[in-house]
Amino acid sequence: MTRLAMPKADEGVLARRGEIAEALRAIVGTEWVVDHPDGLRPFESDGLTAYRQTPLVVALPENTAEVQAILRYCSGSGIRVVPRGSGTSLSGGSLPLADAVLLVMSRFNRILEIDFENRAVTVQPGVTNLNITNAVADRGFYYAPDPSSQIACSIGGNVAENSGGVHCLKYGITTNNILGLEMVLVDGEVIRLGGKHLDAEGYDLLALMTGSEGLLGVVTEVTVRILQAPETARAVLLGFPSSEDGGQCVAEIIAAGIIPGGMEMMDRPAIHAAEDYVRAGYPRDVEALLIVELDGPKGEVDFLLDRVEQIGRANRASYVRVSQSETERQLFWAGRKAAFPAVGRISPDYYCMDGTIPRKALPAVLHRMRELSGQYGLLVANVFHAGDGNLHPLICYDANKPGELEAAEAFGADILRLCVEVGGVLTGEHGVGVEKRDLMPAMFSETDLMQQQRVKCAFDPDQLLNPGKVFPVLHRCAELGRMHVHRGQMPFPDLPRF
Ligand SMILES: Cc1cc2nc3c(=O)[nH]c(=O)nc-3n(C[C@H](O)[C@H](O)[C@H](O)COP(=O)(O)OP(=O)(O)OC[C@H]3O[C@@H](n4cnc5c(N)ncnc54)[C@H](O)[C@@H]3O)c2cc1C
Repeated sequence: MTRLAMPKADEGVLARRGEIAEALRAIVGTEWVVDHPDGLRPFESDGLTAYRQTPLVVALPENTAEVQAILRYCSGSGIRVVPRGSGTSLSGGSLPLADAVLLVMSRFNRILEIDFENRAVTVQPGVTNLNITNAVADRGFYYAPDPSSQIACSIGGNVAENSGGVHCLKYGITTNNILGLEMVLVDGEVIRLGGKHLDAEGYDLLALMTGSEGLLGVVTEVTVRILQAPETARAVLLGFPSSEDGGQCVAEIIAAGIIPGGMEMMDRPAIHAAEDYVRAGYPRDVEALLIVELDGPKGEVDFLLDRVEQIGRANRASYVRVSQSETERQLFWAGRKAAFPAVGRISPDYYCMDGTIPRKALPAVLHRMRELSGQYGLLVANVFHAGDGNLHPLICYDANKPGELEAAEAFGADILRLCVEVGGVLTGEHGVGVEKRDLMPAMFSETDLMQQQRVKCAFDPDQLLNPGKVFPVLHRCAELGRMHVHRGQMPFPDLPRF
């Protein structure tokens, strides 16, 4: 059972569990509804394993018509619904609710159309991120956003979280690579947004839906843009005696007008954990390691590699190693991509934070994080998308030691507040979910949050889709419509705060 404050479970719905499971079986077939306690256990949490909740019942639809029928039934009966892709969210986005149907989209696993001419691929939302690239790689194409979880996470989840990855600095995050969506709204209506073309008329609803964390509708089809793989890609490892030097090097590479295909940084604890796990050949005697990848025509890559090397040396790089083969380049990345599980080997539990800061604040933020680490008595390993200032501090703790989870949560909250203080934002690419929900007021005023909830109300007036996520206060939509905040005094002070 989660310790988080979540919307109060509806006793009436809990009492109707058997009847609800039967209704769902009539829609998707007997074997695609799970309501036995043993069967429900694997769905209790997502990638944010600190929080758990057994769902009311799990339904696994296979097509859009079944999703429509489920949502029509649930909205007509006042039953909450939590959409789920592969369950790798690190912000608790797909954490179940005790009185909600968990709508698992993993059977939507077909690639519907590959259109090389228009450089577009249409897939069902349960297809994994990596399988889109796998489907087009033989013709020299790929799908650019590459979360480290790409072997498992679904493209529907990527859309809902607006996910990023190491190559997003140059090629953009999910929102820059999605062309079209089919979605089912809470009342069962199907809408189609965008298509294979690059722009659509009217409001940019595609952008609104990307990053909507399962609160506005259920994605049932996704059309993505694919890119031609670059002629060459090579990576260089740069090791520094301090993270300040590494941070300065990042700033100077960007200032020189170079946009690397990827630019990632790791601090000493992360380097050691990754090296012990993957043997990527990382130096152990540096405080910060940069992986910089250049891609494009061979001549350009060779020229830019030289420039990056010079900038590195000018910033006291004590270790420089350029990949000499595709295998070596892949090995450089293998360490970085396995950094989360690598930290999982050295600590019983870890809490992965996700905040974004202006690049120039990096040294100061890392310094403060080290101080906080000493204060809380918890190790922190840092892995981050250095080019775009997206930090992923991994706070190590042991959930079996009383008080350590609470200390990790407080440490994490301090880090995220620090990101906002230095001019950054609470989220990078993992979404708000339940993890950052209660910190939203550190970033947004009450008026901002109410405006955002009005958008939610326009799509889901009864707040049945993934409630308890993203918003720290669940306003009733009818009240939001006539809400007036006078001198900062909130009307309806009795509204539940989570
Ligand atoms: C080891 C590891 C590494 C990671 N690395 C990265 C990284 O580099 N970059 C990054 O951005 N993220 C990363 N993540 C986080 C996670 O993989 C992404 O957020 C991913 O997009 C989640 O996809 P999923 O299919 O697992 O979605 P889920 O976890 O199942 O759901 C995530 C959210 O999407 C909603 N959702 C899912 N499917 C649908 C749908 N069809 N329609 C509507 N809403 C839906 C859910 O309600 C929930 O709010 C990492 C996670 C792990 C465990």
